[in-house]
Amino acid sequence: MPEKQKRLTQMKTLEVEVVRVKITLACTECKQRNYNMTKEKKNHPERLETKKYCKFCRTHTLHKETK
Ligand SMILES: [Zn+2]
Repeated sequence: MPEKQKRLTQMKTLEVEVVRVKITLACTECKQRNYNMTKEKKNHPERLETKKYCKFCRTHTLHKETK
């Protein structure tokens, strides 16, 4: 296999392996970024929304994925 072709194949393999992406969850009430986590992009292509405890609001609030 030519060297250039080989490199392209390796790059493709890498893309497939990186399915877990780092995301930050921010409280929708106070906008504080409370949680860092990873998600399976394949299973959750959309923005993640989940109820989590916010220590600033001192209650469970809706947390949304943010950049
Ligand atoms: Zn909050």
